[in-house]
Amino acid sequence: MRMKEKVAVITGGAGGIGLETARMFLKEGAEGILLTDLDDARLKDAAKQLESDRVAYFAADVSKNSDVEAYSKKAIERFGRIDVLFLNAGIEGVVKPLTEYPEDVYDKVMAVNAKSVWLGMKHVFPHMKENGGGSVIITSSVAGMQGTPNVMAYVTSKHAVIGSMKVGALEGAEHNIRVNSIHPSPVDNRMMRSLEEGFSPGGAEEAKKGFEAMIPLGRYAKNDEIASLALFLASDESKFITGATYAIDGGLTT
Ligand code: NAD
Repeated sequence: MRMKEKVAVITGGAGGIGLETARMFLKEGAEGILLTDLDDARLKDAAKQLESDRVAYFAADVSKNSDVEAYSKKAIERFGRIDVLFLNAGIEGVVKPLTEYPEDVYDKVMAVNAKSVWLGMKHVFPHMKENGGGSVIITSSVAGMQGTPNVMAYVTSKHAVIGSMKVGALEGAEHNIRVNSIHPSPVDNRMMRSLEEGFSPGGAEEAKKGFEAMIPLGRYAKNDEIASLALFLASDESKFITGATYAIDGGLTT
């Protein structure tokens, strides 16, 4: 019952890692979970899969200031407080050399993956301060720790959130707000199917084998393995940990 008496907001809550994390938080006794994502129908389906009256959902675009304000207000209205903020929504952009990378895609990826992290903390910190603290977890990537050719916006955005995490950790500390980032290697879900196709059009299976060969443990991560790390950082087991970057990558960045 590591999430007993805790209320969590999960962005990207209808996606692979977000939904699995919600499932795990519920199993560990979370008092309330607000799932937020772009699309109402996908959120409804995600909430249905969780089959719990401790789950609510709210459609919002994490890159928009007013939407982020609205999802934090919704969580407070519904559950009275926010103990855990899992800033997990993200997009991969396209796979193209930097000389051909489209400017509009670059701007979008930066807004969804990086600006959203500042906006989330901007609107949720005041509630956490009032409430005596909280835990913010940011999903970066191994792409936030090392470069990969042809994904300029994704790599840049995932490095950028380490800076946001550090500022959040330092500003949050006196209010008992902890901020940490997690850095998964490829996870076996929709986003990797899209990237495999982007790196190797028509040859996704081959691309997957190539990526797996680079990972010392020899395989992709599973959504629930990432959720387990988010659970640790959300729970009081990690109460002296802030400002930290957690690789969860089968040894890839070693
Ligand atoms: P996913 O595509 O299943 O989930 C991402 C979710 O974010 C989707 O449900 C999507 O609708 C949502 N989203 C996208 N744009 C949004 C916006 N503007 N506003 C609100 N929600 C938005 O993939 P995932 O693997 O579950 O991704 C979760 C996080 O993990 C992302 O930040 C991703 O970059 C990161 N990550 C993924 C992998 C991987 O291999 N899948 C590896 C490292 C890090």
